[in-house]
Formats: sequence, structure tokens, C-alpha cells
Amino acid sequence: MATNFSKELIVKRGTKVKLADYDPDDTLGWDKGHKAKASSEKAIERIDKLQYLLYAEHKHALLIVLQGLDAAGKDGTIRHVMAGVNPQGCDVTSFKKPSTEELEHDFLWRVHTAIPKYGDIGIFNRSHYEDVLVVRVHDLVPKSVWSKRYDQINQFESTLNQNNVKILKFFLHISKDEQKKRFEERIDDPDRRWKISQSDFAERKFWPDYTRAYEIALENCNTPYAPWYVIPSNKKWFRNLAVSHIIAETLESMKMKFPAPTVDISKLKWK
Ligand code: AMP
Ligand code: MG
Repeated sequence: MATNFSKELIVKRGTKVKLADYDPDDTLGWDKGHKAKASSEKAIERIDKLQYLLYAEHKHALLIVLQGLDAAGKDGTIRHVMAGVNPQGCDVTSFKKPSTEELEHDFLWRVHTAIPKYGDIGIFNRSHYEDVLVVRVHDLVPKSVWSKRYDQINQFESTLNQNNVKILKFFLHISKDEQKKRFEERIDDPDRRWKISQSDFAERKFWPDYTRAYEIALENCNTPYAPWYVIPSNKKWFRNLAVSHIIAETLESMKMKFPAPTVDISKLKWK
């Protein structure tokens, strides 16, 4: 089945985003089974080969931003998608509540230092978007401050893009029922109870506020140089399939080339 995942799941620019219009159970016609599994594995093999090329060429970096509500599958996506890639060329940064030092700088300071270097893939588990999501929902800074951040984020991402950092942003979209199911599974599983935090349950009450905050971020910060993708994520197998394909398709679109050898191969002499 030939599906262009990038085209299907990219958020259309210039339109109002209503998450209720996006079905978190959508699978674009795919069924769970060996075909989906094989296709996902193939995409991961492509990512591995393209990462080697990215590293060899050393001209671009790829930044993957993962956002989603608690239990949306950010950790699981990272585990799955990065399973096949060389750890030498890949960095994951998880953004938590800012430290005192981080709060003494502009909100992009901690983000900029985590941008992958040329040749690398960088994954953000949460990101600068928290500064217009949790911060907006809980009024952690005045509106006059957070409301300017959408433009600031666009300018920041544009600067990165002009400096050969390719940006992909994934919103892992789950339903409120699916989140409840996943929390309950965590409670029932002694090996996963550690993942539960008080805030998971507290934040669930703010579901409509987060939904609105996400809709506005997806609308205001969806640019040609840093597009948003809404990934239907109720089904983990489909989420993995879609994300791995979009990463592979994006790396392929970068038209990278192996650099020419730095020595004249014909003049090399072997003893
Ligand atoms: P987790 O991803 O489950 O480890 O949780 C990280 C927590 O840090 C989440 O509750 C985020 O909302 C919070 N967090 C991340 N970035 C920020 C930020 N810029 N301001 C406030 N809280 C944040
Ligand atoms: Mg959490």
C-alpha cells in the first residue's frame, strides 16, 4: 500500500485547527498486521541508511519535535523510531519544568543549546512549545509575555531552517478515553507504575484548555519551514508506522549526497 504519510498528515496551512476534526483512531486505511509491521520496519531501515548519509554529508541536522498530552506516546515513539539508528548520530532531549538557571534566561535559551549539530538527528521530548502550552494553560507568565512567543518561535525556527536545520513537529493525538485506559494500564502494571505522576491526573482536568492551546500553537506555528503533523495515536502501531515514514520521507527529500573523497584515490599507494 503506497501511502504518502507526510502529505496525508501535515496540517494544512492557513486553516483553523479543530482537533475534534482529527480522528485519533484513524489508520489511513491500514490494518494492524504483518504488512504494517513490515512497512514500519522498512521505514526504519531507510532512516538508518539516511542517517549515515546525513552524518557523512555533515551539512544538515534534523530536529524532531514530539509533543502530546500525558500518555500520548512520546517515549514509546522515540524507542520505536530510534531503535535502528546509530546512537552516535542521535541525541534525545527531554524538556522538564525549567530549572532556576533556565528561568533566568529567555525561554529559547535551553532549547538552542540542545539543537542537534550538523550530521545529527535530535529528538525533543517536549520542547519550546511547552512555553505556549502548559505556560498558557496555567498562566505561568503573563499573557503579554506568552502571546508574543508564537512569533518568536516562528522566527527562531526560521533561523534554524536557514542554517540547514530541518524541522519536523509531531503532535501525538490521543482521545481522552485512551489516556484514561493508558493510565489504568500503568496502575495495573507493577513495572510501569513508576511512570505515573500526580500531575498526570491533575492535568487531565485541563483537557479542554490543552486542546485549545494546542489548536492555537498548531495554527500559529505551522510554517513551510517547520510544519506540524497531527499523528492519530490511539493505535500505537499506526503512530509508529506514520512517524517513521514521515521521518524517512523527509530525509529523502533533503537530497543529500556523500561528499567527495578528500584524497585522490587513484594516487593512493598500498604496500
Ligand atoms: P514528563 O514529560 O512527563 O517527564 O513531564 C515533564 C513536565 O515538565 C510536564 O508536566 C511539562 O508540562 C513540564 N514542562 C516542560 N516544559 C515546561 C515549561 N517550559 N514550563 C513549565 N513546565 C514545563
Ligand atoms: Mg508524564
